[in-house]
Amino acid sequence: MEFPFEPYRIKVVERIRWVSREERVRLLHDAGYNIFKIPSDAVYVDLLTDSGTCAMSDLQWGALMTGDEAYACSTSFLVFRDTIRSLFGYKHVIPAHQGRAAEGLLFTATVNEGDVVPNNIHFDTTRANVEFRGAIALDCIGEEGLDPYLDAPFKGDLDLAKLEKAFAKYGPDRIPFVMLTVTNNSGGGQPVSMANIKAVSAFARARGKRLIFDACRFAENAWFIQQREPGYRGRTIESIAQEMFSHGDGCTMSAKKDGLANIGGFLCLNDDEWAQAVTNLLILREGFPTYGGLAGRDLAAIAQGLHEVLDQDYLDYRIGQVARLGRRLDELGVPFIHPTGGHAVYLDAKAALPHIPPSQFPAQVFTAALYLEGGVRAVEIGSLMFEHTDPDTGELVHPANELVRLAVPRRVYTHTQLDYVADRCAEVVRLGSRLRGLEILWQPPQLRHFTVRLQPVGGGAMVVEA
Ligand SMILES: *Cc1c(COP(=O)(O)O)cnc(C)c1O
Repeated sequence: MEFPFEPYRIKVVERIRWVSREERVRLLHDAGYNIFKIPSDAVYVDLLTDSGTCAMSDLQWGALMTGDEAYACSTSFLVFRDTIRSLFGYKHVIPAHQGRAAEGLLFTATVNEGDVVPNNIHFDTTRANVEFRGAIALDCIGEEGLDPYLDAPFKGDLDLAKLEKAFAKYGPDRIPFVMLTVTNNSGGGQPVSMANIKAVSAFARARGKRLIFDACRFAENAWFIQQREPGYRGRTIESIAQEMFSHGDGCTMSAKKDGLANIGGFLCLNDDEWAQAVTNLLILREGFPTYGGLAGRDLAAIAQGLHEVLDQDYLDYRIGQVARLGRRLDELGVPFIHPTGGHAVYLDAKAALPHIPPSQFPAQVFTAALYLEGGVRAVEIGSLMFEHTDPDTGELVHPANELVRLAVPRRVYTHTQLDYVADRCAEVVRLGSRLRGLEILWQPPQLRHFTVRLQPVGGGAMVVEA
């Protein structure tokens, strides 16, 4: 459908302040050309992330009011647990304050130094939590997933040959479990097919290993299976999700994504011993096992969100809106990674700004220019985030792609606002060679993209006079 219909009416609105271009020039300069330092009330359309930025429904806001704040065994927890059990099918449901807390608990209890955890592609926090244990986070993404312009239906699929190689190289004793991230966030929000889920599960189980899902966008993944995989057209999202999870033994989840909530997460496990070990840690770090660092009202809002995210009309609209943004960008000649994923569009800054070398951060230039020309906030996923020095040769290594991610918050922006975003992206492409590269003024030792300060190469304005 050209206009994926919003299956809701807007009941509460939030004022957007219009900021003049002059003010944006100043704000960008003061922020050191770092988009993370722009105050959010000076952003017109904020596509920095789809995490925790969703709009809750009237029923979720109602659930906040009726949340039970009892310390132990609150009604809200029981509803949360039973909702998750019936959908995910796992025995133990362990609440946590967000996804990375669930990861930290699981890996602390089950991953040892020198272990190897395979995944299609580890999300940043998953990788960091695995590495924090002194273990190796191994990406086993299929070849299709590595080709940025290939139009394939399931570019999130894990490559079984790579998994087999990992088992041969490291030995099964060093591999505590196998993971699958659905959809594959770091690979462009691309889905994993049911066929691949089954094959990875069979492979792991044949070796006595468990399969753990990183389930953040499970409903979006189920929608792609329904639309693209033979035999699933007539099936409900709920039944497809249940089938996906039946092939695994547990999951980590950030409720800030497909939980349609602003905070929260959980861990599910079938294994009693693992669950016991995790629960001991949970009490130490997060809270009593029936709230895990969340208020009762948060548990109630998440339980309601997990019902709403399964709605066919919602998902048709949600993923349709992202696809529609892609079509607009195509029409306007803005290059991006194909096909669009479930939650985001990834612009190709290398193709858009070929005159700027990776050492001058083309994707950051695009991101800064997009704010300058439209008050739109995106995020750089390129050399600013991933450039590193090769420990053997001492040479600078740049990532294969220089990307600008437009992550679409759930139920927040209208089609008009996203049309505006596409228009502003086209304006940045049109400015092209008039845009100057950026150089670093100051950077911290790690994770520099959050706090780095930059300026246009040699100082002066970012856009050169025509
Ligand atoms: C967001 C995310 C996480 C981490 O969840 P937080 O709630 O941000 O801690 C883990 N995995 C994937 C795939 C994610 O998108």
